[in-house]
Amino acid sequence: MFFLGHMAWAYVWAVVFAGKRWGKLFVPAVLMLGVIPDIDLFLWGFGVEHHTFTHSFFFWIVMFAPFLAVYRGKVIPYLVAVVQHFAFGDFFVGDVMLFWPFNLSYFGFNTAMISVFDVALETGGLLLAAGVMYFNGDLKRLLSVDVRNVLMFFPFLALVTSMLFFAVDVPIIPLVAHIWLSPVFATIVLAHIVLVVFLAVSTAQGLRRVQHLGSLRFWIKQSD
Ligand SMILES: [Zn+2]
Repeated sequence: MFFLGHMAWAYVWAVVFAGKRWGKLFVPAVLMLGVIPDIDLFLWGFGVEHHTFTHSFFFWIVMFAPFLAVYRGKVIPYLVAVVQHFAFGDFFVGDVMLFWPFNLSYFGFNTAMISVFDVALETGGLLLAAGVMYFNGDLKRLLSVDVRNVLMFFPFLALVTSMLFFAVDVPIIPLVAHIWLSPVFATIVLAHIVLVVFLAVSTAQGLRRVQHLGSLRFWIKQSD
């Protein structure tokens, strides 16, 4: 699954698990946690294979243990954002070492990326996330001039990096030439554009606030 689907579904699953009890989630963190197991792509140079220990329940439960001990249930939606990456996304589109280090077998349906199933799951997730965001007020907050939105730069950077990564890893350059010939490919590219623009606008709104605060401070200093 692409970062797109991982981020969208991380948001949906985290909101479901947060429910009314844990209230509002910090969305930039949820989106980043939704893609964090793929950090192994960057550890390839150290002999780490993709979809191994960073895609196991055990690894993340250990990583989250200190936070669970301190913050208790509040942390669960954030842990869910990580776990859904491999137990849902990569499980349906790919296969992963879910039970490392106890069992080194790969589990999953091993569906291909850019298959109809994958693209339907990813764009479906994006639409669902957008709908949830609209109705729970997150969309409005994420598009408002709010300093916290500056942190949407991190998921923005992660998504852009993943797009560049796949542009090199998968022969996307020749594929781009066929974008309008393949509806499946055109759909996933368009979905990426939609999410990238959304993350960029949210970041820009945050930056507007920073700029505003900066000029406000300057003005206060002047009038002292
Ligand atoms: Zn993954």
